[in-house]
Amino acid sequence: MVNRQINYTNICVNGCVFCAFRRDRADDNGAFILSHDEILARLKAAEQSSLKLDEVHIVGGCHPALPFAWFEELLKLVSANFPGLPIKAFTPVEIAHFAKQEKTSAAEILSRLKNAGLVMLPGGGAEIFNPELRYRLCPQKANAREWLDISAEAHAQGIKSNCTMLFGHLESYGDRVEHLLMLREQQDKSGGFLCFIPLPFLKENSRIELPPERRGPVDGLDRLKTIAVSRLLLDNIPHIKAYWIMLGEKLAQAALWYGADDLDGTIVEEKIGHMAGARSSQGMTISQLEHMIRDAGFVPIRRDAAFGEAPAHA
Ligand code: SF4
Repeated sequence: MVNRQINYTNICVNGCVFCAFRRDRADDNGAFILSHDEILARLKAAEQSSLKLDEVHIVGGCHPALPFAWFEELLKLVSANFPGLPIKAFTPVEIAHFAKQEKTSAAEILSRLKNAGLVMLPGGGAEIFNPELRYRLCPQKANAREWLDISAEAHAQGIKSNCTMLFGHLESYGDRVEHLLMLREQQDKSGGFLCFIPLPFLKENSRIELPPERRGPVDGLDRLKTIAVSRLLLDNIPHIKAYWIMLGEKLAQAALWYGADDLDGTIVEEKIGHMAGARSSQGMTISQLEHMIRDAGFVPIRRDAAFGEAPAHA
């Protein structure tokens, strides 16, 4: 797919210890926040290329001061300026943050965002559901129950979503299986997850003290096996993504033989994985993605945001 990722700010109140992307304050080195105009300018530039965007993907840190109205207005501006462009935005963690800021329910936040043009939630922020690990890794963040409940509420409102798991840090194989089973159980109840995205932990610039056996380069085969096990266990989630940004292009290609059926898209600009040490490109062209898929022995299909086949313009 042709998509454009927008990371609107890296200033975040949550302070997750594994996160290389976040900054605590606006004057910290590398802190940024994009204005509405800057975001619209990035999307205009993407639209002016010869390829029509299939999706915009908007995520960022939980900013301490940006009011919820700023986000509502952003989605309204994107909808008005780019009619028909599907907006996938804000993980359940960001939704929980908005609800806390506004002193309202996640249901109210989701409904207002839907009215402003939101069609889908990305799957970030699930990390690992085990409560003890979650407390060590990201104590301020929405907990597992909140993350799952917000996903369920989105599904109830007709907003589809994705789901993720961050692996290769402090967790055991048992923790991974427990996480996958919780996603499977939620999917049986609410049915709105379209895709599972296993995210290998990237250590560079992270403050996690890893156990000795996890300190070298993460084992590529472990990543592939995790994709394979996910495909088998999550029999009720239609798609498994080999997210080339985090896996790297070559492993993502191999992952297609291990149960993944999606490579995400062109992306264009990505900060979260790259600030954590991802060595992949910032973006890819459609023909690079096509070659990756064909060279691995598969047939590329351009898709839309909801995993349908993209229309004829593609
Ligand atoms: S992972 Fe997300 S919520 Fe946690 S510190 Fe980073 S940007 Fe904030």
